[in-house]
Amino acid sequence: MTILNPRLVPLGGLRAMTVRRTLPHAGKRTIGAWCFVDHFGPDPIVETGGMNVAPHPHTGLQTVTWLFEGEVEHRDSVGSQQLVTAGQVNLMTAGRGISHSEVSTEATTSLHGVQLWVALPDEHRHVLPFFEHHVPPRASIEDAQLTVFVGELLGVTAPTTVFSPLVGAEVILPAGGRATLPVEESFEYGILVDAGAPMIGGQEAVADQLVYREPGAAEIAIEAGGQPCRLVLLGGVPFGERLVMWWNFIGRSHQEIVEFREQWQADVVAGGDPDGIYGTVAGGLAPVPAPEMPNVTLRPRG
Ligand code: MN
Repeated sequence: MTILNPRLVPLGGLRAMTVRRTLPHAGKRTIGAWCFVDHFGPDPIVETGGMNVAPHPHTGLQTVTWLFEGEVEHRDSVGSQQLVTAGQVNLMTAGRGISHSEVSTEATTSLHGVQLWVALPDEHRHVLPFFEHHVPPRASIEDAQLTVFVGELLGVTAPTTVFSPLVGAEVILPAGGRATLPVEESFEYGILVDAGAPMIGGQEAVADQLVYREPGAAEIAIEAGGQPCRLVLLGGVPFGERLVMWWNFIGRSHQEIVEFREQWQADVVAGGDPDGIYGTVAGGLAPVPAPEMPNVTLRPRG
């Protein structure tokens, strides 16, 4: 077990919402195909302005939105318009290219949750984009209540579409509670602590940390200790591909990222081709221009 501590990242905007990012981490790029873990809140919207992310592109990945509190409206270039709140999952498969916006609603006073990315394996990363919204199934074991929003755990299977062996679940334990989760020996795991100070596989952890566990064990024991705890369990077979991750794109080479960026700038930011791969997002927000590329060649990592 290894502890990955978060770094604070402002999401941008005038009143930037700040997220706690534990993946990618200097010591760990991916956990299974999970390649990005942003954890936020509980943020009082009056202070942070909430989530107000204008249309921006993605390639080569899936985004998973899982909230504990608050409500976010997702719109994308395949025509989706979908609210997501606690107990529901939004999953967007970018494939060859998509754009979307995410805005917390007027009814939201506090925003709290995670935004996750899943890298698509090379053989599936050029699929046509699509979006799905589900109320995923629940399960329980000993003192733990789980909601399985990706993959399969405890005999329940999430309805979300994934392209590699993967699991994602919220785990809640009351103060003093304990549970031993049966897990896949071939998976590596990351357990994000949202609340509480649990012992996870004998490792003490506190809120906002991600506890990493290598493949090879058949169970993970969790003890809540003196406080209730909420965790997000992420796992998968170690992702055997090297990725180039830059801004909102995942590719396999520097040149590919340059092309993704140029196409976004030309088709959408400059308005050259509303029917291009990134399409158009309804709602009237101006698309976000890509930052300049760095002066160094981006190298595949992982
Ligand atoms: Mn996005």
